[in-house]
Amino acid sequence: MPTRRRFMRQLTCAGLACAGASFGVRARLAAQPQRREVRIGGRRIRTIDAHAHTFIPAVVDAVRGTALEKSAAASAAGSLVMGRERLLRMDEQGIDVEVLSINPWWYGADPTVAARLIEVQNRGLAELCAARSDRFVALATVAVQHPELAAEQLRDAFRRHGMRGVSLGATVDQDELANRRFDPFWKAAEDLQALVFIHPQGVPELRRRLQGNGFLTNVIGNPLETTIALSHLIFEGTFDRFPGLRVCGAHAGGFLPSYNGRFDAGCVAFPANCTNTLKQKPSEYLKRCYFDSMVFSAEGLRHLVAEYGADHVVMGTDYPFPWTTTAVDHVLDVPQLTDPEKTAILGGNLARLLGIPAEPVG
Ligand SMILES: [Zn+2]
Repeated sequence: MPTRRRFMRQLTCAGLACAGASFGVRARLAAQPQRREVRIGGRRIRTIDAHAHTFIPAVVDAVRGTALEKSAAASAAGSLVMGRERLLRMDEQGIDVEVLSINPWWYGADPTVAARLIEVQNRGLAELCAARSDRFVALATVAVQHPELAAEQLRDAFRRHGMRGVSLGATVDQDELANRRFDPFWKAAEDLQALVFIHPQGVPELRRRLQGNGFLTNVIGNPLETTIALSHLIFEGTFDRFPGLRVCGAHAGGFLPSYNGRFDAGCVAFPANCTNTLKQKPSEYLKRCYFDSMVFSAEGLRHLVAEYGADHVVMGTDYPFPWTTTAVDHVLDVPQLTDPEKTAILGGNLARLLGIPAEPVG
């Protein structure tokens, strides 16, 4: 069976008794762990993971012979590719739905290659979601390095594939997302009320300082990049120009949500350094944003909710990267959260933002 058909079949069959499954497959399915059903106050709720990565192997053909082929081929051979394992892990952890996103690897592509690969990539995402519409939704990918093209790709993903959000890197070829050249994309994102999930890829300029023990290129570099991206979107006026934007920061938005008081104080103490007059206090713009729950402590999550509201926090796992297997319990175990707040964070907010049915499954 061709690889593509095989993994689509694995997805469709995982966790289910598949018609036509061989005895061996049926035996393995019988040995699978039970699917965890999350209940709050005795009521089954649908849990939705905002932060789950994947890769579409079909894009390798779309970039064959270009400088992108090598990295695409490497990702196509790795754990990002969808398969049976993913549903097993989701079932174990009580994740009903994953919101699939793809970290950008195509920001160096010219318009012709970018158009071709995004077409294949978004179609691949749509097919994965159609195969298990009860378990997966996807964020569109766009070639934001070509903002007008990206705007059209976003509209196309909404129109043709029913997508309701989009993923972005935190910088584009060393340009900040707040650079005005990206305004055509932001305009489309605002018009469509898209959820824009910003995911960092580290700060290469700091690689020398972040080398050494502790994986600091990631544990500092990634949240720092999101911090910088969100800060520029605020201070360069992107949120003023596009007040309807719905931006969600990966890894709880980086460091900024825990340190916004300094941003408010800076322009008061040193007004000469704040030449772009904002319509609101910097921290007010953050309150429009959404943040995933990846702070790894009950106190960190309590604080995030206290600052931004339970209606602006969404559960995230970062699957298949092995950051956590307890994202659901992380939310359930915060003593200060009410049942409605936990329900919102675990899935209700994303159901609303992405148009996913909020009613419980099975
Ligand atoms: Zn991630």
